Amino acid sequence: MEISECCEKYALRNSVEELILAKTKSIMSRLNMCQCEKCFLDTCALVLNKLPPKYVTTDKGCLMAKVPAMDARNELELAILITQCAKMVRDNPCH
Ligand SMILES: [Zn+2]
Repeated sequence: MEISECCEKYALRNSVEELILAKTKSIMSRLNMCQCEKCFLDTCALVLNKLPPKYVTTDKGCLMAKVPAMDARNELELAILITQCAKMVRDNPCH
């Protein structure tokens, strides 16, 4: 099968990225900081560089459906990490 045919139906996604994008948005909204797209993506980049990626193959129609469930401990550690990174961006915004 040609790779281009293959990629019409399925996509390779880092499921950690989907999770971080969603969580960072909600954590940033609770901090007193700039909420612009640049600060949001800078925070996501800082967080993602500290976490191992978790790649999954998905149907293109349901990209968001396969975010893995996390246990409470990981959930808390993730929230702490995102908060730390958001504060770094808040204190040194790149704009
Ligand atoms: Zn900003």
